[in-house]
Amino acid sequence: MSTDEIDVSTPAMLSFYRRLYPYKSIFNWLNHEHTPTRRFTHREFAFTLQGDVYLRYNSFATAEEMKKQVCMLNPTRFEIGPVYSARPRDKKTARPGAFVPVQRELVFDIDMTDYDPVRTCCSGADICRRCWSFISAAVRVLDNAIRDQYGYRHLLWVYSGRRGIHLWISDKEATDLTDEQRKAIVGWLSVIAPGIKEASKKLNFRGGHFTLPPSLRATLTHLSPIFVKLILEDQDCFGSTEGWETLLEYIHHAPLQATLRKLWSDDPTRSSVDKWGDIKSERRKKQGEKEFVSPVL
Ligand SMILES: [Zn+2]
Repeated sequence: MSTDEIDVSTPAMLSFYRRLYPYKSIFNWLNHEHTPTRRFTHREFAFTLQGDVYLRYNSFATAEEMKKQVCMLNPTRFEIGPVYSARPRDKKTARPGAFVPVQRELVFDIDMTDYDPVRTCCSGADICRRCWSFISAAVRVLDNAIRDQYGYRHLLWVYSGRRGIHLWISDKEATDLTDEQRKAIVGWLSVIAPGIKEASKKLNFRGGHFTLPPSLRATLTHLSPIFVKLILEDQDCFGSTEGWETLLEYIHHAPLQATLRKLWSDDPTRSSVDKWGDIKSERRKKQGEKEFVSPVL
């Protein structure tokens, strides 16, 4: 969690820290109780000051102390780190080996640039109301998956300040997870395999060819209602040649691919809605062919 990427003048930041920053709520959320526990007092805060000065291992006894320090330093950004076995501000005097991270929230980052391959309205650092729909869909899917499949209840969604959103999970069971366990959770919920360029191999369909794994099945409930409006109508993702060629890569059925490619090349005016209709009607014609089963049609 950070106040990064907020491009405002120093006096504006100072009034934000003095008058608006929700110290008490942040304290309550990090600490889980009204009186300070190790979850707050042993928590690292790292400040970035004007001129890129980076101050690590700050810690505070109370929310008031934190506010005083933040207002004094007026950082351009600050980060909330893990809970350590000793107070971070006492790091230098801690016995060797007695200063180690012991707990930290489970964090997911959703960045708008993750949607560059599919959004058509903006790219890179640009963001508008239309492409924000991708983020809102991602929040709906991830929030439900985390609650239903892992049973976590203490979820905090934080707007990053410019182009994305972060999820912080603070259930005790989540903060105690090892790095390996965190990776396993992310892997279980991943749809796109990382580092693979070829579109047709990117989709993480485990448990059988073209069969949606259990972790992803429930997402259809959330995504089906917005698919037509967002992907087909608003973003018109398959309007351009590049868009519909990418779509064809996901259809692992050469004769159907060829039929659709011809249809769409011959008539460049066909919209994404028309093309989706074409896939459905062509599929109906081939329903008897056992090898063609799609998870989404
Ligand atoms: Zn946009």
